Amino acid sequence: MNDRDQIDPRAMHVWDDHTDLFSHSVIGYAIERLQLRKNPKWGAAPAEELAAELEHVLTKNGVGGMEAMRVFREVLMPACRPLDDPMNLAFVPAAPSVASTMFDLVVSASSIFAGYWEAGAGAIAAENQALRWLADLAGYPKSAGGVFVSGGSAANLSAMVTARATHLAKYGRGKRLAFAATREVHASARAAARVMDVDVVDVDVDERGRMSANALRVALDQANDHQVFAVLATGGTTNAGVIDPLDEIAGVCDETDLWLHVDGAYGLAALTAPSARYRFAGIERTDSFGVDPHKWLFTPYDCAALLYRQPALAAAVHAQHGDYLDAIDRGEWNPSDYAYHLSRRARGLPLWFGLATYGTEAYTAAVEQALTTAHEFARAVDRHPDFELLLEPALSIVLFKRNGWTLEQYDAWSHRRAREGVALIVPTSWKGEPCYRICVVDPRTDIAELTPLLDDIAAFM
Ligand SMILES: *Cc1c(COP(=O)(O)O)cnc(C)c1O
Repeated sequence: MNDRDQIDPRAMHVWDDHTDLFSHSVIGYAIERLQLRKNPKWGAAPAEELAAELEHVLTKNGVGGMEAMRVFREVLMPACRPLDDPMNLAFVPAAPSVASTMFDLVVSASSIFAGYWEAGAGAIAAENQALRWLADLAGYPKSAGGVFVSGGSAANLSAMVTARATHLAKYGRGKRLAFAATREVHASARAAARVMDVDVVDVDVDERGRMSANALRVALDQANDHQVFAVLATGGTTNAGVIDPLDEIAGVCDETDLWLHVDGAYGLAALTAPSARYRFAGIERTDSFGVDPHKWLFTPYDCAALLYRQPALAAAVHAQHGDYLDAIDRGEWNPSDYAYHLSRRARGLPLWFGLATYGTEAYTAAVEQALTTAHEFARAVDRHPDFELLLEPALSIVLFKRNGWTLEQYDAWSHRRAREGVALIVPTSWKGEPCYRICVVDPRTDIAELTPLLDDIAAFM
């Protein structure tokens, strides 16, 4: 049916040929990993089972690289879900490019301390070039800057810490601190609030799940018990791909002197796509934003960009000081100063290398392709009598309902087809009702493979 059915990853393994040096080369395995499609049936195994397989591995004398590699290839890798399979449409999947992934090996091999300019200037200059590309897409001023962190969660936390410090420096502390967000905000925003011991002032959403300027004004007016220091808006919610109206929200933040951070971990990749760019109008007025290249900019884990309009405000709270640190002249741009971390790998370099290799237009084309696939799928849902499109997709997430189905039925089809390696599509809910959700980030996701799933779901008992 499709080429995955014909590839038996084991049969093609160069590892089965134990004759040459290549067969115990870690690099060889990495290349092979990139060339062969992963088996979509791979996934979690019971901890006990894996522990038993691992029992002989850590010993006083070691088992040798060949054996450790065998365990990884035969036992451990198959117990990891292939998030980069083009038919993995759950959560936010991954689609790292060959160039970015190969360069990640180079970053590891290079042992660069990319915290301070003094130690990692060459790597940092290139990371900054990639950050500048993102800043330009958002229309940020030349003075903007930021850092690559581990993920959208780290970006949200670091931005909120900067927002709070900026607010406190100006206004001092009166009441209990809070930032404003809707219930559609990513779970990491509330996690950041818990880490910071601040509250979240809830802003109501409109019928499409967006934060309106009016709802924000009402929430701020009613937040009498709190001193609100920031608004955390979303550029592409994880559940529905919905984009808050950033320009309106920026207007309220201007009036009230509140920091505006946009969590665009998934969605802001679409700044590269002319067909979607207008949806982010107002992004140029924000104080900070985050976008995860490991989600939809074809970069391997872990790579998230955090940009500030005024990076000095971040350095004022995040820079670490100590005798051992202050003794050196750190140099002109220190990524360590812009988030909660000190040592860091140059995790932005794989994005930079991918951009350098393929050119920025390749990124535009790849993001546009995922948008097109999602929109074509939405039209197929529209046409099908057994389904309802719950929301016109703004980006590449499509929410749709199988008429008359219960959550158990959604679960049953999902589990069956995931086990068979057909596709990974898992249910979510929209306005309290169960539904299906797909998220397309891979330009190789084939609409001709996707739309027949509707008939398959319709016929499923
Ligand atoms: C995925 C996601 C996050 C969390 O990002 P991590 O990289 O997993 O930490 C935060 N916000 C949004 C909107 C996301 O989609």
